[in-house]
Amino acid sequence: MNERQPVDLLFFGAHADDVDLSAGATIVKMVKSGLRVGMVDLTHGEMGTRGAPHIRKREAQAAARILGASFREQLDLGDGNLRTDRAAELEIIDVIRRCRPSLVFTSWPDDRHPDHTRTGRLVTEASFYAGLKKLETDLPAHRPQATIYYLQNYMIPPSFVVDVTAAWKTKMRAIAAFKSQFHDPKSKEPQTFISDPRFLQMIEARGGHFGALIGATYGEAFVTKQPPRVDDVIGAYGGREIL
Ligand SMILES: [Zn+2]
Repeated sequence: MNERQPVDLLFFGAHADDVDLSAGATIVKMVKSGLRVGMVDLTHGEMGTRGAPHIRKREAQAAARILGASFREQLDLGDGNLRTDRAAELEIIDVIRRCRPSLVFTSWPDDRHPDHTRTGRLVTEASFYAGLKKLETDLPAHRPQATIYYLQNYMIPPSFVVDVTAAWKTKMRAIAAFKSQFHDPKSKEPQTFISDPRFLQMIEARGGHFGALIGATYGEAFVTKQPPRVDDVIGAYGGREIL
């Protein structure tokens, strides 16, 4: 997989699998439509109960290939105590200035896992600061058009839902690439919240629920403080009745 490069959409997550679980099918759909997508994990996931970091890294690369991402990179901001100091912010600014995305996606800055909360805040602030011309680094300033949040543990009313019906199977295949993390009857590692078979059932059910909100079989939901412009109001509500 190529190194960091210019992309249209840039997805940040604290841990490998955060983005895949919450927005993987949207990546598949966007890549199919011709957009370039980059993925950045802010940590190596070294605090995870199952799977050593080198195994998780290999799994993360395999998942990114299945999703169709142009690259997946891992920073080292500290799993379980994610750094949000100026040096960490400058690392994110560097990624944004190098990749020059139109849109940045990250965690909602208030989630059950504090690393998700910190990631959301850090990436939101870095996305803005990356556009300050007088903040001089090795790279020219660049400000994305918007920061958009995917949903993880806490449910926030979505700002919009992407119909990902055609991309759902590919997303679940990418998630299956994280073999050390999810349900494997042969694994001798300790059972965790996400290795319980009910976790993947929950992901499936959540996709079905978000899909139902827009009259589709599967959907992925996003929140943004900057509402998207809609030109075709009737079309935006096509295929469904009031639930
Ligand atoms: Zn996570």
